Amino acid sequence: MVSEVLNTNELHKIDPVFGQLSFDNHEQIVFCNDKDSGLKAIIGIHNTVLGPALGGTRMWQYNNEWEALNDVLRLSRGMSFKAAITGLNLGGGKAVIIGDAKTQKTPELMKRFGAFVHSLSGKYITAEDVGMETSDMDLVREVTPYVTGISESKGGAGNPSPITAYGVFMGMKAAAKYKFGTDALEGKSVIVQGIGHVGETLVDHLTKEGAKVIITDINEERLEIVSSKYGAEIYRGNDIYSEAVDIYAPCALGATINDETVNKIQAKVIAGAANNQLANEKLHGQILQDKGIVYAPDFLINAGGIINVYAELEKYGKTEIMSKTENIYNTTLEILNNADVNKTSTHQAALNIAQGRIDARKKENSNR
Ligand code: NAD
Repeated sequence: MVSEVLNTNELHKIDPVFGQLSFDNHEQIVFCNDKDSGLKAIIGIHNTVLGPALGGTRMWQYNNEWEALNDVLRLSRGMSFKAAITGLNLGGGKAVIIGDAKTQKTPELMKRFGAFVHSLSGKYITAEDVGMETSDMDLVREVTPYVTGISESKGGAGNPSPITAYGVFMGMKAAAKYKFGTDALEGKSVIVQGIGHVGETLVDHLTKEGAKVIITDINEERLEIVSSKYGAEIYRGNDIYSEAVDIYAPCALGATINDETVNKIQAKVIAGAANNQLANEKLHGQILQDKGIVYAPDFLINAGGIINVYAELEKYGKTEIMSKTENIYNTTLEILNNADVNKTSTHQAALNIAQGRIDARKKENSNR
């Protein structure tokens, strides 16, 4: 048999989609290609039990197509749980566009992408993610109504990143309350990894609260700008994971908590915006738990953005957006306590509750 000949690393090449490690019973995966604009994109629809699959579009220069496929599979799955844990009637979906957002993103490409989104008739609703701006969503809006995160001047809720940052700040405060007995972050050292749209606003909240903020980014120019604006210290060492800080806030890309880093981490709390921070959610989530590091589940505390874009669909205003986002504090505390009681990792506790909501709705739907 073929599987006896090949090792597990090679099996995914035989079953390139349904056999991917990140495949988790996704409902639909759509490959989009347009020669004229150079568009190569993948839309992942993980689960639509709670509602249409909503999730942002990421444009990234992946090393290969396997990486892009795995990213969209992981990200879309995360969106199902994010919507479920936040109590929104949305399913989980996400899209990736393969390419360099700085040099290859054109209005034609964005509109072609929008046409593919439109062809799904609302089963998938897009928004912005890494490599996207509100103005890109405005272009998508020209060809389909199935897009959120458009400009306020065009009737949208605007850039979701500041709300995401506020939710992360709330989740971080809850995790601090759990670990340190107080949610005041004054005097706490916080390393923010990635000071883009979300990271910078998080730095702003932390600075205002009197935290000692240390920043790191691969973009030197941003480091200088954010450092001089907020007085944050630029990290100049070569291993942020071994830094003895109170809090580590991953706000760049995912999987930074992995086999190489997990045992080095000195922070007492991990709370950040990046999606899929745990390279292996079971293994690394449990190691953090065993080490007594309080991990605030990413899909729970970075839900501010989806709360913001959901407002465009449900037509609720800023006050409700802020109160729903502030509630991330309470949900985080509940999950951290739940993990303690059930002797499981915080990530698993959040997943169990989210999956429970999806299962209950599925049962309700089938009884109709
Ligand atoms: P962004 O592209 O604006 O910022 C990302 C920053 O990380 C950039 O400044 C980039 O230079 C930096 N970076 C990339 N690789 C790095 C590395 N190895 N080390 C240090 N810095 C690195 O993206 P964003 O919108 O701020 O989102 C940040 C993260 O939060 C992403 O994982 C995104 O999926 C997640 N997220 C964002 C939102 C949102 O509303 N924007 C919502 C939920 C989750």
